[in-house]
Amino acid sequence: MEKLLVCSCAANDPYSLSSAYLLDNELDTVKAGVKKYADMIGASDIMYFLVEGSKSYGLEKEAFGQASPVMDNPYAIVQQLKGNLPRPMIQDDYVAEYEGKAVYVLTPEVAYNLAAPEKKKFVTINKGDKAEVKAVPYGTKLSEVVDAAGAKAILLGGLKGQFILPAKLGEYTTGDDILSGSVTIYGPEACMVVTTADLMNKTWMNSCNKCVLCRDGTYQVKSIMDDMPVGKSKAGDIDLLKDIAPLIKIGSYCPYGQNWPNTLLSALELFADEFDAHIKKKSCPAGVCFQAGATYIILPDKCTGCGDCVDACDYTAIEGKKKFIHMIDQQMCEHCGECVDSCDEEAIVKWEGKLPKLPKKLTKVGKF
Ligand code: SF4
Ligand code: SF4
Ligand code: SF4
Repeated sequence: MEKLLVCSCAANDPYSLSSAYLLDNELDTVKAGVKKYADMIGASDIMYFLVEGSKSYGLEKEAFGQASPVMDNPYAIVQQLKGNLPRPMIQDDYVAEYEGKAVYVLTPEVAYNLAAPEKKKFVTINKGDKAEVKAVPYGTKLSEVVDAAGAKAILLGGLKGQFILPAKLGEYTTGDDILSGSVTIYGPEACMVVTTADLMNKTWMNSCNKCVLCRDGTYQVKSIMDDMPVGKSKAGDIDLLKDIAPLIKIGSYCPYGQNWPNTLLSALELFADEFDAHIKKKSCPAGVCFQAGATYIILPDKCTGCGDCVDACDYTAIEGKKKFIHMIDQQMCEHCGECVDSCDEEAIVKWEGKLPKLPKKLTKVGKF
């Protein structure tokens, strides 16, 4: 069967910019590496798979589709080329076919290293809202690539990586592994619960949904993590996360599901005190969550029970009925402040400090 070689530029996770960097800065070397690999495997055809919305590079054959961590898999590529969602197939003897050709895949970084005189790792360094890519020789200590002075935490390898403490950076070197693909630096101002919740939301969005443990596991983990920064977590949530993460690793079909739980488990281990503080004391050591002044209440002596505020709340956090004093459920309130302007009586306020006496159950206007 004839062979089609696809250079997948859509296989990075959101923490790595290496493919885009290589297309923009090292296109000739990438093309030379793709051609070299095509000759090595006897591929008659070459295609470049680019992320939807990116520019055309004028390459011989270009296709566009969504980026996904599974887009280094030939079957996932074929699925997108056929207009389906990207889903992998990893049996050793499975041949992914497209238009009668067996599909083979490589990434721009692998192609570059086939043609370049010296092997290089393209490390994406993320700090705050800035990201840069550094090209360094294989075997370089990450502590020589990244200045982590004053950092609190480092995420190596993005969605399929793990958290480490900055002091450990020198123990990792650049190479073919996932971990040295990106280094994300968090300063002392970062809340690791919020950071982990954000990561788990990205993890959930990037699951291809093919298998139950990764699909339902990412959703369950994301839901538990979403509750933590807003004080809705339950005792036992950490134990539950620690119980299900290893099961997801074992039962997931592809390397994505087998690796993403490492980010969660490493965060739970390294920042256990921060997680505990959020759950047991409803406090945030970094001062990000549970900020004083973020409590919205309805002043019972001003509320006329008109009901105008109920529809203003997208989180259904306001309860009440006509002629009854309305109340904000603090467990449901997301502190968005949208309800304040809906009240003509100016009964809804953002309150700082000790709360005044408020009704605990629905009470008729004038009876509190
Ligand atoms: S582990 Fe996740 S990403 Fe991999 S096939 Fe299963 S659902 Fe898809
Ligand atoms: S809080 Fe304001 S808008 Fe809501 S029921 Fe009371 S008076 Fe009406
Ligand atoms: S602050 Fe936002 S979430 Fe809270 S009650 Fe008002 S509208 Fe609802």
